[in-house]
Amino acid sequence: MAWSYATHYSCDNCGEVYDLNQPLNTCPQCGGLLEIHYDLDKMKLELRPEQFAGREPSMWRWHEFYPLRSASHMISLGEGGTPLIPSVYAGPKLGLDRLYFKNDALMPTGSFKDRGFSLAVSFAKELGITRGLTYSSGNAGASFAAYAKRAGMHAAVLVEYLANPVKKSIIELYGADTATLYFDSMTEITDMLEQAVTNLGLYQFVNFINPVRHEAMKGYAYEISQLMDWAAPDVMIHPVGTGGGIWGAWKGFRELQQLGWISSLPRMVAVQPSATAPIPRAFRQGLTRAERHGDTSKTIAQSIAADSPIQGGTRVLRAVYDSGGFAEEVTDEEILEAMQWLGNEGICAEPASASTVAALKRAVAEGRIQSGESVVCVITGSGLKQPGAIQQTVTESPLRLNASYPELRELLSKLWG
Ligand SMILES: *Cc1c(COP(=O)(O)O)cnc(C)c1O
Ligand SMILES: [Zn+2]
Repeated sequence: MAWSYATHYSCDNCGEVYDLNQPLNTCPQCGGLLEIHYDLDKMKLELRPEQFAGREPSMWRWHEFYPLRSASHMISLGEGGTPLIPSVYAGPKLGLDRLYFKNDALMPTGSFKDRGFSLAVSFAKELGITRGLTYSSGNAGASFAAYAKRAGMHAAVLVEYLANPVKKSIIELYGADTATLYFDSMTEITDMLEQAVTNLGLYQFVNFINPVRHEAMKGYAYEISQLMDWAAPDVMIHPVGTGGGIWGAWKGFRELQQLGWISSLPRMVAVQPSATAPIPRAFRQGLTRAERHGDTSKTIAQSIAADSPIQGGTRVLRAVYDSGGFAEEVTDEEILEAMQWLGNEGICAEPASASTVAALKRAVAEGRIQSGESVVCVITGSGLKQPGAIQQTVTESPLRLNASYPELRELLSKLWG
């Protein structure tokens, strides 16, 4: 039995294949996006779902499904293996009996980005990479910085000027070199990075330009399916920036189906804020490529404020169409309400993550999701890193109390009768 069953990269665009022992970003021939492949036939013969149950509950439980070759290069802080929490508030409110939250806010640096960076940094280290670059609205930078530091790698993080100060400080706390990044459209960023790949050979950690990060997001599929006794949910809702999360999850579910470990696939739902909703817009028009759309400064959902989808958002749209899913846009108002709903579940989510619950509410109203269906909303990041947004969702209690028992008794009878 192999530690990894990964076999090669192939290019989405020209089909060229490449050996995995080179640290590639985009296709050296044509600049297309690379995808990693696995020997699924061999995996089907050699692996059984039961054998994964006893392993440590982190994303590395599934190492056979990732491209890292040796455990000795693994850079891990205990990422993945997050709980699937049944809803006690939103579900009953929307008439859904089987609504779950996959709570990745519990990750080491507070967001699901840790899955991708644990794997991508480990993989880069295994291939001898000592320097890397990414841009970030906050969470990716924090995660990259933490894992790169542990790997002894120089990390440069270009922090978008819209990122909130707490996230910026966290990136510096983890020891990355940072610069604030100004831009009009995200197309400028991807153009700049593509030139850096071509001219400097600089290894990059931006989703999809880096072909490894989204491989780790397949872990959602493995973890959720295992927790559901080897069945997929009917619907999976994921917030979309670049689309690494939703694409990785979709790839993971397809692998499990090919292995025969699950018999059906979920409908994948992509969510973006109305202020920048290129994917929902393309979906409504039935297009397979999304055009630049919107203004990234006009939403509180910073982590998914993306106006220019990488390579036209083709992977995200494929996941949506091929799964029979759909794309939703949601307003900041709906997101703030969803944050309150999640508060009632005991979950403190950042706006980008709460967008999944806002989208669910819309989808139920539109009849796209039925009451008997099982639904998973991924909570991708913790609200603790965006405290300003949390403050926006609540009004401070005007009640005051002097520390005396009679006053306490009076207060409680006022509150509870
Ligand atoms: C990055 C991020 C997303 C979007 O993920 P992509 O893989 O870029 O689509 C969603 N939610 C949070 C909290 C994030 O940090
Ligand atoms: Zn190519």
